[in-house]
Amino acid sequence: MSSIPAPSALDAGTQAFPTLTAAQIDRLRAVGELRKVRPGEILFEPDDTDVPFFVLLSGHMEIVQPSLAGEREVVTHGPGGFTGEFTMISGRRCLVRGRVTEAGDFLEISNAGLHSIVAKDAELSEILMRAFILRRLALISRGMGNVILMGSRHCSGTLRLREFLTRNAHPYTYIDLDTDKTSQELLDRFDIKLEEVPVVICNGRTVLRNPSTQVLADCLGFNISIDNTQIRDLIIVGAGPSGLAAAVYAASEGLDCLVIETESPGGQAGSSSKIENYLGFPTGVSGQELANRAIAQAQKFGAKMMIAHSVVGLNCDRRPYKIVLDNGSALSARAIVISTGAQYKKPSTPNLQKFEGQGVYYGATYIESQLCENEEVIVVGGGNSAGQAAVYLSQTARKVYMLVRSGELSETMSRYLIQRITENPAIELHYRTEIVSLDGDYQLEKVGWFDRATGETSVHPIKHVFIMTGASPRTEWLQGCLALDNNGFILTGRDLDAPADHPASLAWPLSRPPQMLETSLPGVFAVGDVRSGNVKRVASAVGEGSIAIHLVHRALAEP
Ligand SMILES: Cc1cc2nc3c(=O)[nH]c(=O)nc-3n(C[C@H](O)[C@H](O)[C@H](O)COP(=O)(O)OP(=O)(O)OC[C@H]3O[C@@H](n4cnc5c(N)ncnc54)[C@H](O)[C@@H]3O)c2cc1C
Repeated sequence: MSSIPAPSALDAGTQAFPTLTAAQIDRLRAVGELRKVRPGEILFEPDDTDVPFFVLLSGHMEIVQPSLAGEREVVTHGPGGFTGEFTMISGRRCLVRGRVTEAGDFLEISNAGLHSIVAKDAELSEILMRAFILRRLALISRGMGNVILMGSRHCSGTLRLREFLTRNAHPYTYIDLDTDKTSQELLDRFDIKLEEVPVVICNGRTVLRNPSTQVLADCLGFNISIDNTQIRDLIIVGAGPSGLAAAVYAASEGLDCLVIETESPGGQAGSSSKIENYLGFPTGVSGQELANRAIAQAQKFGAKMMIAHSVVGLNCDRRPYKIVLDNGSALSARAIVISTGAQYKKPSTPNLQKFEGQGVYYGATYIESQLCENEEVIVVGGGNSAGQAAVYLSQTARKVYMLVRSGELSETMSRYLIQRITENPAIELHYRTEIVSLDGDYQLEKVGWFDRATGETSVHPIKHVFIMTGASPRTEWLQGCLALDNNGFILTGRDLDAPADHPASLAWPLSRPPQMLETSLPGVFAVGDVRSGNVKRVASAVGEGSIAIHLVHRALAEP
């Protein structure tokens, strides 16, 4: 049995497992009830929902994680200690077992009581949130989750699920079937076929064969605390930077809000290895880290987050509006913020789909960078995201070929990035060049590119291609409901005044003018990359998401 090492005074361990002072405990007494506990009593189990928060006044308890090989110790709490990790805030299922080891008095606080303290008491909020986040990070780093993922680095499904769990900050144990022969035997014994990999063991009992992210999210109870029947003040569609900013401001200002996200929170920014131009982060911040902080912040204030569900329609003829989900259910809200951003454009190269996840990638995060360590890679595109990917991958790859269709890097590329690319000996820029062939049996093995300047096609033994060729808006579900521009981006505010070839039904219907960021439907707002005229930056997406909430308040106050 291993345990989290005892912390020294200054390391993260101290803040992960702090001892509350008598004064802090006294403030918690107001929302709690005293409970006498005896040795052996189990206070919570993995998979439990709505688990209370316990503060130990006297006595001891241990936190363990049951696994296939027995219990693994996480930590022991003593007087002044407290239970809980991030599931306390997110409302998801518990990951660990809590067992009393020495009789004593515990303060038991309901989930609602904890939320009210976190919202009101700044000092306790800081101590508890920091501890919950650090405890979650400790579980992640030690692979102590309720998921075992058995997969292969050559399998796109494995990459998809690893990214899903990582981007949702969910701890899991990964077993690499390429190297772990015992697991391969186990799969053979259960007659699990190649196309059924990855295999996921969820909560120690349910075996899922190559599940969709939605099936995995359901198995883990990601959305268990969400009530679909409630009419909310606000639904935010999409949890990229703009949607997360809207969620933080809406929840912190007392709006009852739900965020719905198709994949994992973070959006495009979540796939960025390092954002260096976001205010306040002079050494840069990974998109994923920024997203994780925002998710914690939004949930701390009480925003609900529905993961792995897509919005496929909007019933826009009556208020409260109804959002239709991919499973057919409908959710009502008095106001809506659309923050569905944009998705990568895919070039029409033959075989592209065949090699997606098997050599062709649309994001360059830590996971992908590990797949191509010391190998040659290609980055396609001449914009900011391509530039960033090239610079990031050049740290692990042997060589990065950056293929740009036009004769120069994009006008919108930041100057600092252009300098990093052109001065980096590991990056080779090829202008007027396009990929024309992708070949290999299962995994990508060879790439052919055509150089329009020389008229030559050459074939290279390269196994990794990163496609970063811009994005188009995710508004297909809004056709006929909202006024869009010619490229499908949502028109807002003054842009709605411009003469357009929309049907009259999409004209602004009220005598007051639309507010800034308001779409052709009163009370429905669009923010970030999905909005016509957006500037494709994290900061502007965050700014728009925040401003939108001020406007939502006004819309909600209307008769
Ligand atoms: C690799 C990369 C690097 C970048 N680097 C930088 C940088 O360094 N600095 C910078 O300022 N900008 C950068 N950008 C741009 C920046 O990330 C975007 O401008 C920003 O993410 C836009 O945020 P958004 O919230 O509007 O949309 P998005 O980030 O696109 O998020 C939209 C979210 O909505 C979800 N969604 C879509 N449709 C639905 C639906 N129907 N139902 C439910 N959910 C849905 C998506 O899954 C997604 O999570 C980068 C972009 C990329 C791709």
